[in-house]
Amino acid sequence: MHIISTTRSHTCQAIFWLNRSKRMVYRGLRSDRAITQAEGTVAKQVYDFATIERRWQKYWEDIRLCYAQDDSDKPDFYILTMYPYPSGVLHIGHVFVLTIADALARYRIIRGDNLLNPMGWDSFGLPAENAAIRDGLHPADSIRINVDRMREQMRRAGFVYDWTREIATSHPGYYKWTQWLFLQFYKAGQAVRKKAAVNWCPSCSTVLANEQVVGGQCERCDSEVEQRDLVQWFFTMSKDAQRLLDNHRKLTGWPEKIIKMQENWIGRSEGARIDFTIAETGETLSVFTTRPDTVYGVTFMSLAPEHPLIQKLVAGTPQEEQVMTAVRRMRRQGTAERERVDLEKVGVDTGFHVINPVNDERVPLWVTNFALMTYGTGAVMAVPAHDQRDFEFARTYGLPVRVVIQPDGEKLEADTMTQAYEGSGVQVNSGPFDGLPNTEGMTKITDHLASEGKGDRTVNYRLRDWLISRQRYWGAPIPIVHCEKCGEVPVPEDDLPVELPRDVDFRPTGDSPLAACREFVETTCPACGGPARRETDTMDTFVDSSWYFLRYLSPRDDERFVDPEAARRWMPVHQYVGGKEHATMHLIYARYFFHVMHDLGLIGVDEPTHDLFCQGIVCKEAHYCPTDKWLADDQVEDGRCRLCGGPALTEMAKVSKTKQNIVNPDEFMAKFGADTVRFYLLSDAPADADQVWSDEAVPAANRFLNRLWQTIVDVARPGVKPFSGKPDELEGDDRELHRKVHQTLLRMTEAFEEDRRFNTGIAAVHDTVAFMRSGRKFSSAVLVEAAEVLVRILSPIIPHMAEELWTVLGHEPSIFHVPWPEGDTEAAAEEVVEIALQVNGKVRGRMNVAADADREFIEQQALADETVKGWIEGKTVRKVVVVPGRLVNIVAN
Ligand SMILES: [Zn+2]
Ligand SMILES: [Zn+2]
Ligand SMILES: [Zn+2]
Repeated sequence: MHIISTTRSHTCQAIFWLNRSKRMVYRGLRSDRAITQAEGTVAKQVYDFATIERRWQKYWEDIRLCYAQDDSDKPDFYILTMYPYPSGVLHIGHVFVLTIADALARYRIIRGDNLLNPMGWDSFGLPAENAAIRDGLHPADSIRINVDRMREQMRRAGFVYDWTREIATSHPGYYKWTQWLFLQFYKAGQAVRKKAAVNWCPSCSTVLANEQVVGGQCERCDSEVEQRDLVQWFFTMSKDAQRLLDNHRKLTGWPEKIIKMQENWIGRSEGARIDFTIAETGETLSVFTTRPDTVYGVTFMSLAPEHPLIQKLVAGTPQEEQVMTAVRRMRRQGTAERERVDLEKVGVDTGFHVINPVNDERVPLWVTNFALMTYGTGAVMAVPAHDQRDFEFARTYGLPVRVVIQPDGEKLEADTMTQAYEGSGVQVNSGPFDGLPNTEGMTKITDHLASEGKGDRTVNYRLRDWLISRQRYWGAPIPIVHCEKCGEVPVPEDDLPVELPRDVDFRPTGDSPLAACREFVETTCPACGGPARRETDTMDTFVDSSWYFLRYLSPRDDERFVDPEAARRWMPVHQYVGGKEHATMHLIYARYFFHVMHDLGLIGVDEPTHDLFCQGIVCKEAHYCPTDKWLADDQVEDGRCRLCGGPALTEMAKVSKTKQNIVNPDEFMAKFGADTVRFYLLSDAPADADQVWSDEAVPAANRFLNRLWQTIVDVARPGVKPFSGKPDELEGDDRELHRKVHQTLLRMTEAFEEDRRFNTGIAAVHDTVAFMRSGRKFSSAVLVEAAEVLVRILSPIIPHMAEELWTVLGHEPSIFHVPWPEGDTEAAAEEVVEIALQVNGKVRGRMNVAADADREFIEQQALADETVKGWIEGKTVRKVVVVPGRLVNIVAN
């Protein structure tokens, strides 16, 4: 039976009319179905989600539920979810994060805020381009199709956005301003072109920023990344390292974990710069060290294989070929591998030497695979006695070891040491510094070097400049022209955007595809008017997403990148929502961008957001067969692989195509409705914890929603006002239901306001519904109160059903325009009773516990009581007698 015909008109008025007639249907239903109906027996035909969900989605669009006003006098609230790549399908991870954000957004609407909740597309960059290549389409076309599909999926899931503010970063109206911002950065010296050793992904055929290399592999395609020396465009982000750290104190609403990840990535360490001299050429070679106290123990110098000096030094020497061959071999090892403690340490002697500034000693200059260009200067003073990596290397290659720090009560001998001593002690073999504690040695030696002009106290950061040029087609062209006479010339702002031409062979070859497009490349120099060539690299897509927060505020503004008035009104974002995998990529880039934009006077805030919520990862069982690799669900039967008959291993893993444990949200929404999927996703764990998806558990969530539906329908008594009196006016089961309702309400309120543990609120809902259906007698007013509160507090999570039930309860839509109910802490308080605490039969104290506390809980509380502890100290508890509601007697001797 369908309660609502699908042929009804969709205007608001029709809905009101519909609801009036529908209530009569419900009354009919109620007469033959008591509230005492047993758990689990739900009339299947009652809740017709397919019709109901579609109808309310249309209704929310019609009433513009989620459209922000720039001139509202309500409090402003800007909630933003990290926008997706238009890959063509909204996967379950998207649905999870968007559900959290949608619930938070709807909660803010209920709270009466002027809510800004926009959506857009990260449509430039590799993911979009690769999807287009996969589908044999031009990226511009593939994006249009994919965006339409994903927008429809979002609507189907009940997510409400202000679609008038939709943006796509590959639209010229957007990237014009990405280019404009590049020019502002360029003029401020924040964008520079320079030669450097950079990460190259052979599979993506482009360079990558350090942040986009994860464990030595490309963040996109997992290929092993190589090092190449190339001239590239960088943002000078390393200069911002200290600011990125200092400003963490403003990010009071960020997860501690994300702050820690950023701190590690930025990698601040205090130490000294020490200037060595290359003996053969007289050039200065500076090192950074956190252990200047060990400088007298230097027995060789390590250069990273990427160090630009190597080629220069050995060019034309007899050892050139041998050195460069070894260097190439070392560079082929991934950076991540080279950072491993158990790395096999190898190196090559350059034949050159350096002079130690403290004692004028001449020591050999080596290239080693454990020296990294990303640490310090890429040159490392090697002290085998006091650094384990140097020690292992020295023993392998027969280099000397010299002890310069002696620990307390022990005598280290260079010849017999089996490992480096990295602790503290007293300076020895250290000239005038002998006998000093090494902590003092650090300061004194650094001061000495500084006074001689051979070093200084300094701070080192691991953070490097942000490499932003890409040798791929689908990105914003870098607005620079190269002229033989004038060099680099920025494109005049009036000529923006530099449009990306459509007809380009964009298959990745390793060279920028734009270089082959003559109409694009050939231009005239804006400075001298002579012939010139356009820059053919495009920008990293993370540049687009570093400022997109602002474009939503005035998305169609042709004159400015953002309307300053709107920026003042809405920034910083009140609640940003997205994955923790962005901790050291997008979330660092965007913060750097805001620092620069702020300092250039372009905006008034210097951080995009002070409040960040990071959702957990959706995981599901994945099956693996040693022969057939990852298996789909239907390729496994009774723990065995159906392909080869061998045993299949099962593990819990993040959903992914590779592991064949993908969840298709569309399938579940079609079968059980969007509300069921949303409800299920928030039911099991706190929203910031990883979620375990189980196909089998979804129907159970759906059954519960049907039970909830039936319960509310049964309770609905038009004309009966919900109970609104004092808790002491109630007694017995009424009092208990009233208590449960307010406990649930307070828990859910806290989940929305504070901890995002919607699962605990949902558990309380389960409990309350079970109590309502337990066969007890309740007064109508208390039942109606319970029904109304449940529907209202669930409305952000199951918006369609809640909106529908709100009308069933005799109200007019929209439920999102009804203020959030106030929880009553007095009503929620557990009834307490006083219990006597006896030790060996004598009353020694009293305590208060909830009237319904069980024996086990009472026993625990009694044994934890301070007075009781005093009486049983030193004795053994033999027996505990609990008489609930009266006393506890502890027998101890
Ligand atoms: Zn790659
Ligand atoms: Zn020129
Ligand atoms: Zn198999």
